[in-house]
Amino acid sequence: MTESLIAQAAHYIPGGVNSPVRAFNGVGGDPVFIARADGAKVFDTEQKAYVDYVLSWGPMIHGHNHPEIRQAVIDAAANGLSFGAPTEIEIAMAQAVCDLIPSIEQVRMVNSGTEATMSAIRLARGFTGKDKIIKFEGCYHGHADCLLVKAGSGMLTLGEPTSPGVPADFAKHTLTATFNDLDSVHQLLAQYGDDVAAIILEPIAGNMNCIPPAEGFLQGLRELCNNHKALLIFDEVMCGFRVGPGSAQQLYNVTPDLTTLGKVIGGGMPVGAFGGRRDVMQHLAPAGPVYQAGTLSGNPVAMSAGLASLKLMQQPSFFDSIYQYTDNLVQGLQSLADQAGIPFTTNHVGSMFGLFFTQEKKVERFSQVAEGDLERFKRFFHLMLDAGVYLAPSAFEAGFISKAHNEDDLSFTLDAAKRAFQQL
Ligand code: PMP
Repeated sequence: MTESLIAQAAHYIPGGVNSPVRAFNGVGGDPVFIARADGAKVFDTEQKAYVDYVLSWGPMIHGHNHPEIRQAVIDAAANGLSFGAPTEIEIAMAQAVCDLIPSIEQVRMVNSGTEATMSAIRLARGFTGKDKIIKFEGCYHGHADCLLVKAGSGMLTLGEPTSPGVPADFAKHTLTATFNDLDSVHQLLAQYGDDVAAIILEPIAGNMNCIPPAEGFLQGLRELCNNHKALLIFDEVMCGFRVGPGSAQQLYNVTPDLTTLGKVIGGGMPVGAFGGRRDVMQHLAPAGPVYQAGTLSGNPVAMSAGLASLKLMQQPSFFDSIYQYTDNLVQGLQSLADQAGIPFTTNHVGSMFGLFFTQEKKVERFSQVAEGDLERFKRFFHLMLDAGVYLAPSAFEAGFISKAHNEDDLSFTLDAAKRAFQQL
């Protein structure tokens, strides 16, 4: 018998995957190997189709294999893949980002969300001359050392690494507060206020399932940052250009000092970006002293995909149908769960959504997600996967809808969910 693909992969790749969550560790079983994707569907190596709500973890807002994005990549590639010298398309891309998100007066392109947040934090520290940062439990900002940190024992303690290899000496500069709880931030600032360079958060949390900001939470953080001369960094790697062209900051009308972007901005190519106030960005090399660089940053192929993606997104009423389908999907799932007597609730903002197997009526905190019925989620995930619906293989990840999803995809998904809820 031939070895499974994951077993073959695991000979050469740690865990068989190039990013851990792909391994299905959160749900058990072998991951599906994808051979190709088109529109709202991914196809595995046996040609089985799945309606895709992972969308490469967020980037594919236009659906897979969009002809205009594909063509932009082919056209750019025909002129060479990377030059390591400035190009005109980088101006067009930077201008598009600054036009869409007015708080971004200047922007620097990088190759991933991790690079974007890591660099934004270095810049915030270099600009303010302070070392500490505040992050929130359950928010993920990529795998830079200072961000792989959880709260120490007790709220007002210095951070502890969440991964071996992160020195405790680095982690101690990261303080962890509770998402949607301004008091927890107040307390940290009361003790460490003079040393805090920045508060970083996902304005819509998408790495503890999907948790929108509570009323007044983002505004409160803005005020606290003003009072303590700390920078407010919105990590919009996931929600940027996904919840609207102006991103979460436009939706909630709160202006951060710096914003990090990724996923949708690359249209499926490896792109990240960070940008914000001109006076802060001017501290970045070569304009200023804070160092940051990248061999492939802003390369023309990636920029072409990203720019094509941002152009498509600006078509009138682009987001209407995506929002509508997201509403319909979560409402449909809720009523099916209710009919089957399964304790269940949902969150959604724009085209990001979260599904929770819980008795709670409203999920606003990481602790509520962690206390959900994770076993039931696993069973639901596998029933849906067998039926041809690809949900995120973790109860701690948001789902996404693309412009390519249609009524048929939705009714297919709800039919599968009806059977799944009945079997749970
Ligand atoms: N920030 C957020 C909010 C993210 O969701 C992610 C990735 N899921 C990152 C940063 C890191 O991005 P990347 O995986 O591109 O390094």
